[in-house]
Amino acid sequence: MKVIETAGIVLKTMDFKENDIILTILTREAGKKSGIFHGGKSLRSGNAAKAELFVINYFEYSEKPNTDLVRIRKCELLESFPPLRKNYSKFLHANYFSEILLQCEISGVDSQDYFELLKNTMFQLSGAKTGAEIKFDFEMQLLKLLGVHPNLDNCIQCASYLWKNEHGRITAPKYSVPYQLDARLGGIRCPECCIQSSYTAVLHPGSLAFFSKRQTALQSDSGIRPTQINLKELDQALAIYFRHYFGKNLKTHTLLQENSWKN
Ligand SMILES: [Zn+2]
Repeated sequence: MKVIETAGIVLKTMDFKENDIILTILTREAGKKSGIFHGGKSLRSGNAAKAELFVINYFEYSEKPNTDLVRIRKCELLESFPPLRKNYSKFLHANYFSEILLQCEISGVDSQDYFELLKNTMFQLSGAKTGAEIKFDFEMQLLKLLGVHPNLDNCIQCASYLWKNEHGRITAPKYSVPYQLDARLGGIRCPECCIQSSYTAVLHPGSLAFFSKRQTALQSDSGIRPTQINLKELDQALAIYFRHYFGKNLKTHTLLQENSWKN
């Protein structure tokens, strides 16, 4: 019987028997695993705190052949991110990140990249005022890891270059009218190639410019700040993008959307 030791983030919890909980975790070393955490409901032992959503624990578990569930032998709390469970908007964001990772196929080889992405995102979200920009950064990095980040250089339909090039520097989108992100083709449609389709979403030039700059920099220190309109458009466009990629709507995104763009 092989025993694995790894840090893991709790993505999902499910009651099991009177005192136990089934945890689904994203491990740092071995992809996602589900296992029974015996005594996971016990407040007195401190186990209940380790069986909360989004906490990071140190796990020791063993795998048996022919069963999906691992046996959790040891579980120690490393990081609990209290703000994520105290603030409703942060809670919804964290739920969204969890749901999206529950949909992804994550191999042991890639596990560390996904684990670090989620861990860093949870730290940022804990300390931030709002989650919209953190969500966008998470989605950008996730698309990279999944290998499906959209092509933002040329129109995906007519192949024309989308940017103004002045003295060897790319300055702004070529046209000052709306573009579209096409989820099916995995790229941008120039204004002349825009179509009516449930796979496309409008991106105004400012949103496209922010998208491209952030995709290149992948860090918030790129100097360019998004407006609320940029973030809202990109939220809608990427929801369509992920819906196409996963073949379904993400439940938590609907809740998040209702909560984020009320006005
Ligand atoms: Zn075009």
